[in-house]
Amino acid sequence: MMVFHCPECGGHYRDEDGCRQKFEAMLALEFSDPAFGRVHFLTVTAYMLQHPTRLSRRGWLAMRDLLSRHLRDGHGVEDIKVGIRRAGVSAAKGWKIKADGTTFHEAIGLDWPLTAADVDPSDSVRYGAGVQAWAEAALARSEALPVS
Ligand SMILES: [Zn+2]
Repeated sequence: MMVFHCPECGGHYRDEDGCRQKFEAMLALEFSDPAFGRVHFLTVTAYMLQHPTRLSRRGWLAMRDLLSRHLRDGHGVEDIKVGIRRAGVSAAKGWKIKADGTTFHEAIGLDWPLTAADVDPSDSVRYGAGVQAWAEAALARSEALPVS
């Protein structure tokens, strides 16, 4: 069986487009069932940190800061949503991705301990724990990167 690696996060999938499909399936599950939806913020921020070509450098740093405020400082997700709107993080998409001449992706590489591929969606408890572990690992790895 062929195994495809997501070119951004390195996750293993059966299809070339598997990572995007997995993310979209996760969002669909979260929007349709509140038991899955309670980790929505973690899903979005972890995925964005691992797929930096969707963001500018500034947007990526803002995502890391938002996830840190939630996981490290205990800020509620509703406070953070207001912060996202004020910071205009979504408007950052499509900006140039450069950090001192190095592309953002070159700086980050594929060395992520967990990816969306590792999240088991078979029930909401497993799903919530999987997304939590993924987001915590993504934040810790992001904090260790030479990006500021
Ligand atoms: Zn990926």
